[in-house]
Amino acid sequence: MLGEQLQKLYNLQELERQSEQMEDNLKRHPGKKELWSLRKKIEQAEISCSDMGEKIASLKKELASTNLKSRELDSEIKTLEKKIYSGEVKTMKELSKLQGKQETLKKALDENDEKELKLMEELEILEKTLFSEKQEMINMKREYNQKRLKTLEEIDKIKIEMERINTERDKLLTDISSELLDKYEKVKKQKKQPVAFVQSGKCSGCRMEVSVMVAREVNRHEGIVYCESCGRILM
Ligand SMILES: [Zn+2]
Repeated sequence: MLGEQLQKLYNLQELERQSEQMEDNLKRHPGKKELWSLRKKIEQAEISCSDMGEKIASLKKELASTNLKSRELDSEIKTLEKKIYSGEVKTMKELSKLQGKQETLKKALDENDEKELKLMEELEILEKTLFSEKQEMINMKREYNQKRLKTLEEIDKIKIEMERINTERDKLLTDISSELLDKYEKVKKQKKQPVAFVQSGKCSGCRMEVSVMVAREVNRHEGIVYCESCGRILM
């Protein structure tokens, strides 16, 4: 009778050990950490894309105003040109003044054209970068969703298995005497696994030799016997 009870107690210990291990597996599931860091990466990419989008918009604005300025300069130059060749200019002084003004305007136009070119180049590079970053973000989001589903599936499996083990444990609890359970719980406060075997004269919990007397008592199954060294319940 006691032998049978001890066997059940040992089974209980095994179920509790498995349940604890699974709880640990849940806590340290690698998927959680991977998902977290992937989510951070996506958030960063989103910020970077929106910054780039803003930068592109402001570059486009700048480009439009540069473009407008070029046209204005161009028309001013043409107006001057007309004036110079219209025959209206009567003196050399007036002519050279107009020509000087024209030179200044041409220089300004050149500079403005150069600025426009640079802006266009910058814009092109940014748009290409934004495109590839967006592409990468789509890939990351896809990866995140797949990983999330896989992790959820794995966690569900562990939870289902845990539930099965806990149900089995609860069933077993009703089969073991409360006296024995009390003793088990008391030892469990000190030792994670309170039940041990006597194997080749040694306690399987602490690997210390048990005395001949203790070994004999264990075999007799007349009362609960504790290991003299570690205090575990022997069976
Ligand atoms: Zn021991």
